Amino acid sequence: MSDLLAALDLDALNARLETASAEDILRWAWETFAPDVAATSSFQTQSVPLLHLISRVCPEMPVIFIDTGFHFPETLTFRDQLQAQYGLNIQAIRPTVTQSELIDEHGEPLYRRDPDLCCYINKVQPMEWVMARMRGWISGVRRDQTVNRQAMQVLQRKSNGLVEIHPMLNWTKADVVAYRAAHALPEHPLTRMGYKSIGCAPCTRPVVFGEDERAGRWAGTDKKECGLHLDWTAMIDKERGRGGEGETR
Ligand code: SF4
Repeated sequence: MSDLLAALDLDALNARLETASAEDILRWAWETFAPDVAATSSFQTQSVPLLHLISRVCPEMPVIFIDTGFHFPETLTFRDQLQAQYGLNIQAIRPTVTQSELIDEHGEPLYRRDPDLCCYINKVQPMEWVMARMRGWISGVRRDQTVNRQAMQVLQRKSNGLVEIHPMLNWTKADVVAYRAAHALPEHPLTRMGYKSIGCAPCTRPVVFGEDERAGRWAGTDKKECGLHLDWTAMIDKERGRGGEGETR
């Protein structure tokens, strides 16, 4: 862990940043960690406020897109639109294992047989490689999205020492709607078709009226998170225990 990371008093900083605006948290992160800080984005409608803030506060910051190979074509188009519109510094990362290699190994698409392992290979492993080179990681998670996220702090130390930064943690769904309206932000083309939370195509379905906005993610299973926001050490131990080890890049 770097001297800077070791010296940070996260309890004191969290006490200060808990009530700070998303813009101020973002500015603090950039001033503290640049250039070793990056954001990740899934480029869905609810991602746009954070991307808009990044374009205003720190447009040079890398915005990592994890290209699993399973995204909707509309997501890739929307990503390109946002890059052109806001001048974002988007950098795509990909798993080192191809989908055909995974099918050869497992006999069927891995997301059907073992979605946790699929997320680990296609999302967490590529991010490990990136985050080993960063000191700060910005993510747009909100406390109102999942039970796991309710317990999050604005700043959290990952098991590898990296500081995870959550500028939007205290935003609500209504805050996202209001910010989008105030700044006339664009909408992912699938949102109007009922896709309120959008990830990989095989693991995303539209939601119906009254359902939680993430009910369409891994529907019909207990899975709620891809694993990026969970404890990586525990995940790595678990996946290595069942053959998920491999080069990250
Ligand atoms: S969201 Fe689905 S397809 Fe994408 S990496 Fe996870 S299990 Fe695989």
